[in-house]
Amino acid sequence: MTTVIDGKAYAQRLRETLAETVARLHSKHEMVPGLAVVLVGEDPASQVYVRNKAKQTVEVGMHSFEHRLDETTSEQTLLDLIDQLNADDKVHGILVQLPLPGHIDEFKVINAVSHDKDVDGFHLVNVGRLNTDGGGVVPCTPLGSLMMLKSHLGNLAGLHAVIVGRSNIVGKPMAALLLRENCTVTIAHSRTRDLEELCRTADILVAAVGRPQMVKGSWVKAGATVIDVGINRIQEGDRTRLVGDVDFAAAMKVAGAITPVPGGVGPMTIACLLHNTVQQAMRQAGIDVADNLID
Ligand code: NDP
Repeated sequence: MTTVIDGKAYAQRLRETLAETVARLHSKHEMVPGLAVVLVGEDPASQVYVRNKAKQTVEVGMHSFEHRLDETTSEQTLLDLIDQLNADDKVHGILVQLPLPGHIDEFKVINAVSHDKDVDGFHLVNVGRLNTDGGGVVPCTPLGSLMMLKSHLGNLAGLHAVIVGRSNIVGKPMAALLLRENCTVTIAHSRTRDLEELCRTADILVAAVGRPQMVKGSWVKAGATVIDVGINRIQEGDRTRLVGDVDFAAAMKVAGAITPVPGGVGPMTIACLLHNTVQQAMRQAGIDVADNLID
């Protein structure tokens, strides 16, 4: 029997834990964590993400601050806003929704956010910490994926993890996290040879490619745990449907467990954003970050 890993249910449980932590922070420390989300431009998908993030932030009892800027906003205006948010005591986390319009340097903007208020884990300091002492903030999508893997499999030590995709926001941080869990990690990408063969050796197969249903059932080892990070919109007649990077129906017949799309990694990504905001708020206030925030 293959287990479908229910990301929605995991995300719901994580939000409940966070809501309890937020209530405790309020009653014991008189603080309310605040997340500022900055959106530049009118990208429809980004607008939906920002709306969902703001809604869920408020639902767990935190403050949400939304800053919507025009598509033509200059880089300097955006950097000035970030300076202002860095200095604002009510703001504990800052997220600049990507992608940014082409005239703005994303690298510069990401690193202008104070690393103490970075909730994406994209700031160079947090990237460095993930790859050294692990004390920083971890990117949301890999963090959510790891939480589901640990909850489903328990100890991951010694398992062979194959990650298809080497982006800075998913593939590379996922590899760093799994290495920390003592997996043997292989990172594959567009130049990898014999990808299918390689995937068939994976106890944990993470697909973060951005190609609809690229990973076939025959690429999956019997009993493997498959994490499908991909979010792809495909056209079927006059309607669009969301699919992952894995051929779900075929992989279901072989895998031990698999995350669906939608309802797998996606919901956990937003829940982990809230998690990172609470974590940063606690660190800024000098409060111990409880283990139950992570597990
Ligand atoms: P990127 O485009 O940044 O990276 C894609 C990676 O896949 C690259 O490393 C690329 O290799 C590799 N790749 C592309 N084609 C192939 C191929 N044919 N064979 C092997 N490897 C290949 O994507 P992201 O990491 O940002 O996102 C990946 C997917 O995850 C997307 O569908 C995205 O929408 C989704 N996503 C989902 C999130 C969620 O919340 N669930 C959050 C973030 C992303 P190379 O480096 O050689 O070019």
